[in-house]
Amino acid sequence: MSTTPHKSTGSIIEMECSACRKKTGHKVLAAFESSKGDEILWIENIFQIIQCQNCEEISFRSESFLSENTEPEIQLYPPRESK
Ligand SMILES: [Zn+2]
Repeated sequence: MSTTPHKSTGSIIEMECSACRKKTGHKVLAAFESSKGDEILWIENIFQIIQCQNCEEISFRSESFLSENTEPEIQLYPPRESK
């Protein structure tokens, strides 16, 4: 397993804020990626600490890429209410 800083650090991503309850720009304060597995079966994770540019609320976002899945799995903490 290896962990390295991810290039998304410092960028702004658009997503729903749990406090503003609407889509706002979130700044990526820190981002790391880690991967493990072999060429056939692998998992890659991107972990991001993000901050709402409207209310300064901080959230945690992770993206998981599995070798057998084409769509990444995205998780947010605190979780967003889906409508
Ligand atoms: Zn906000």
